[in-house]
Amino acid sequence: MKPVLSDIEIAQQTELKPITEIAEQVGLTADDLELYGKYKAKVSFDAIRRLQSRPDGKLVLVTAINPTPAGEGKSMTTIGLAQAFNRLGHKAVVAMREPSLGPVFGIKGGAAGGGYSQVLPMEDINLHFTGDMHAITTTNNLLAAAIDNHVHQGNELRIDVRRVIWKRVLDMNDRALRNLTIGLGGKVCGFPREDHFMITVASEIMAVLCLAEDLEDLKQRMAKITVAYDLDGNLVTAGQLGVAGAMAVVMKDAIKPNLVQTTEQTPALVHGGPFANIAHGCNSVIATKLAMKMGEIAVTEAGFGADLGAEKFMDIKCRFGHIKPSAVVIVATVRALKMHGGVKKADLQEENVKALEAGFANLAKHIENMRIFNVPVVVGINRFLSDTDAELETLTRLCEDYGVPVALNDCWAEGGEGGKDMANLLLPLMEKDASPYCPLYDVNETIPEKLEKIVTRIYGGKGVIFEGKAQKQVKELEAFGLDKMPVCVAKTQYSLSDNADLLGAPENFYVTVKDVRVCTGAGFIVCETGNIMTMPGLPKVPAANRMDIDEKGNITGLF
Ligand code: ADP
Repeated sequence: MKPVLSDIEIAQQTELKPITEIAEQVGLTADDLELYGKYKAKVSFDAIRRLQSRPDGKLVLVTAINPTPAGEGKSMTTIGLAQAFNRLGHKAVVAMREPSLGPVFGIKGGAAGGGYSQVLPMEDINLHFTGDMHAITTTNNLLAAAIDNHVHQGNELRIDVRRVIWKRVLDMNDRALRNLTIGLGGKVCGFPREDHFMITVASEIMAVLCLAEDLEDLKQRMAKITVAYDLDGNLVTAGQLGVAGAMAVVMKDAIKPNLVQTTEQTPALVHGGPFANIAHGCNSVIATKLAMKMGEIAVTEAGFGADLGAEKFMDIKCRFGHIKPSAVVIVATVRALKMHGGVKKADLQEENVKALEAGFANLAKHIENMRIFNVPVVVGINRFLSDTDAELETLTRLCEDYGVPVALNDCWAEGGEGGKDMANLLLPLMEKDASPYCPLYDVNETIPEKLEKIVTRIYGGKGVIFEGKAQKQVKELEAFGLDKMPVCVAKTQYSLSDNADLLGAPENFYVTVKDVRVCTGAGFIVCETGNIMTMPGLPKVPAANRMDIDEKGNITGLF
């Protein structure tokens, strides 16, 4: 057996090809690239336009069951599956999200895949990469600064400082910044008001980057962003503050997709990174559509469980991007299903077939949900070293009994070789698929109707409760005529419900909506449920405590 190496050790042992050579594989020349060193590049809009005449490749979406705190291997599977397609002679390209520094230094560590299925150079991708997160943070905070400056300079728009919606952001888990008072210090420091920070990936700017078609569309969306109410209760936009042009300027490079390579030199576009619990959870439409032009098959992911990431992929990203996956892979792990069946984290190493059988209800619900969207589904069991034969056989049998094709997924240990069974199951399904795009709801339904459908059909709950404030916000949006947009639910990732402790496939629960806000730039309505927070905190021992760098610049502990 091979020794078990950490993600970063495998990454550091892998020889990289110059990114110009990776680009050549998909018909891009050095002129099509804007190089960020030898191994990273942005793809120019001229190149993207040139590729428009090519036919679209097939799209595969990778999603998962409700995760345990460590993540279940979606990114890893996305990368491994694309490598597997390539090994089988089908040109495949990855389209996935950029990591945020919050989880990198918090609980999870890096987010560039794992084992022998990673995107490289993983250190760069996990840290500052090509600066997109910085650009998004700056753009967001330029708008925040413009609001307070407008008020300070005479407040011509009569912004109600008690009703500023726009929050500042930082790409860091920092609970101390959730609620604060700004503008203290006297006349030259502006007007004091309550303010809040979110993590950058929750910013509407991130959503705009991920949903915009091009720079012009991005600029128009920037102008439409709602920032505050005025004293008469009317909405104030970024356009009225006169900074939409400058915001687009800051984003001029961030909007271009980033090209890197996997551990097996498969081309990968890593672009945009909203979380799926507090935002819409998918990489940029630009990158996904480009991957479909670059390869015969594009493999992309949606964050967290299929209740969050995949639902939003189908109802938000596909709707705006006019795309549709030809097949969906649901990643499941024995250990997470055992947790859904009642096993404590500390006992996961021990075989427990009974708990696995009980926890299967969670996977079954996600399979049923993907069928609602009318796409072929395959389960990929991400094998961990601690899984026993009896557990793997049980899970395989449960899937077969449920009528869903299932394959073992060894992409972590074997790279693309370990994904061939999954790829071979997918190929005939993708060939056959001719089903129309089938979203869950019509945008013209009311906000409560749309949410009711998500909660009852996808989460398996009884219904939705709008708290007093949220009820008022819904009425307000209806009065403004801004309610006919898709809904982006902010909810815990750990449960199908809005209560992180309800594992498995809970029933008879209600989802409580506490806050409803409109993202007029992104084009959706965010409904915050349960106790979800848009600025995470660090755990007792953050991943950051394990990281180090030596005098030669070698990094350790980045997973
Ligand atoms: P997700 O996308 O679901 O959040 P990732 O693909 O980012 O999950 O993987 C999270 C972590 O789990 C990574 O460090 C990865 O190396 C590790 N991991 C994934 N699959 C396996 C596996 N089969 N065995 C051991 N570790 C794994």
